[in-house]
Amino acid sequence: MDRPLRVAVVGAGPAGIYAAEALANQDDVPVLVDLLDRLPTPFGLVRHGIAPDHLKMRALAETLRHTLDHPGVRFVGDVEVGRDLSVADLRAHADAVVFTHGSSGARRLGIEGEDLPGSLAATDLVAWYTGHPDADRPRVEAALARARDVVLVGVGNVALDVARVLARSPAELEHTDMPQHVLDVLAAAPVERITLLGRRGPAQATFTTQELRELGHLEAAVALVDPDGLDEESEVRAVARNLAALRDWADHVPEAGKASVRLRFFARPVRVLGDDAVTGVVVERTAVDTADRLSGTRETDVLPADLVVAAIGYVGHDLPGLAVDGGTVPNAGGRVLRDGAISPGEYVAGWIKRGPTGVVGTNKHDARETVAALLEDAAGLPRVEGPDLVETLRSRGCHPVLLENWRTIDEAEHALGATKGRARTTIHDRDTLRAHAHGMQR
Ligand SMILES: Cc1cc2nc3c(=O)[nH]c(=O)nc-3n(C[C@H](O)[C@H](O)[C@H](O)COP(=O)(O)OP(=O)(O)OC[C@H]3O[C@@H](n4cnc5c(N)ncnc54)[C@H](O)[C@@H]3O)c2cc1C
Repeated sequence: MDRPLRVAVVGAGPAGIYAAEALANQDDVPVLVDLLDRLPTPFGLVRHGIAPDHLKMRALAETLRHTLDHPGVRFVGDVEVGRDLSVADLRAHADAVVFTHGSSGARRLGIEGEDLPGSLAATDLVAWYTGHPDADRPRVEAALARARDVVLVGVGNVALDVARVLARSPAELEHTDMPQHVLDVLAAAPVERITLLGRRGPAQATFTTQELRELGHLEAAVALVDPDGLDEESEVRAVARNLAALRDWADHVPEAGKASVRLRFFARPVRVLGDDAVTGVVVERTAVDTADRLSGTRETDVLPADLVVAAIGYVGHDLPGLAVDGGTVPNAGGRVLRDGAISPGEYVAGWIKRGPTGVVGTNKHDARETVAALLEDAAGLPRVEGPDLVETLRSRGCHPVLLENWRTIDEAEHALGATKGRARTTIHDRDTLRAHAHGMQR
């Protein structure tokens, strides 16, 4: 076979981009990669997850974009697998498919009152403040308009991100790339008290010390911590650092004119209260035994709340034609398993392969492992005869966003930011993104 291997990568987040990079930067097997995404823009959670006030982390997009310029890689945005193309269509157009579509679902609390207005998943808030086109603006903005007391369930980095974004002053957020409506709604939100609930102790919390310390340096909010578990010692350096950082806050007290962000451990929500909207959360004190088993003590209290946010993790869902088991696609070192057997030509990388853990860089090693498996299999993969993927999409009335189209979006976001002296402002509206992409901007 004298044509390059055609590989379709589903999802242009970090895992998809690292997979495309590993495929493009090797000489053993000539490869052409189509890098698909359901959004008109690449970068996945680097754009729509990483907190907007973490400018250095968000600048990772600048590194990832180099792969999009590679002549062996074609970005094909605004194409959703399962809607615009089936998995079978992909198999007819590509010799190999790498699924890297992430885990965008929110884990649920599973308690009464969870669906009341004013109760959100962190995914809802994060999508909204990063300008994701699918964010539910009315629901999130209605909840924020009355959010004086906020209860955040979870003590991982995502919970800290959400707490920080809600507690920051308008001046601290002014330079971010958040859409203007997001900045305006956050500035008007009446947030006074934010309580984070961790069901285990501070030594078991999954946040990192850097993120934790940041909470202690907010302009308009004071960080507080309840004393439970703070006297624990740990041999694990990261845990010892966290405990030390928390102990630094032990003598903090609420300050007039400032909001508060309180961390409370050994506490879990058992019910969200309210008739038409959230008014409070029933919190149960928990205990952890020597075998690390968690139990409720039946000792409860009520925390007033206008907004409840569950930040307890992400979960992967089925893609039509590709089922997950326990939130990930069954695989052996990146080779997709169907009914327990390797499915030739199908691969998986990133969160949908290993679950929603790790930092952006973790996906690089992960994608390389998958690509190594693909390249090892390459000689034996049957080559498809199908037409070019983009031609097929166009013949079906789709208007994929290719690299040059995305560049016009990118330029428009820089130009929009410049009008306010910012480096960039995210365009959140799908029609506007499409209009810029296809040269029809109003
Ligand atoms: C709120 C939050 C904050 C984070 N902050 C940090 C941080 O500060 N530092 C850090 O190192 N890591 C951070 N992470 C983790 C990091 O974002 C992930 O490790 C990484 O993004 C996972 O990469 P992925 O490619 O597997 O998934 P994703 O980034 O989710 O990318 C998946 C891509 O697939 C696309 N897609 C989904 N379904 C389809 C479909 N049907 N068809 C086509 N395309 C599809 C999506 O649009 C998306 O672009 C954060 C994560 C979250 C959720």
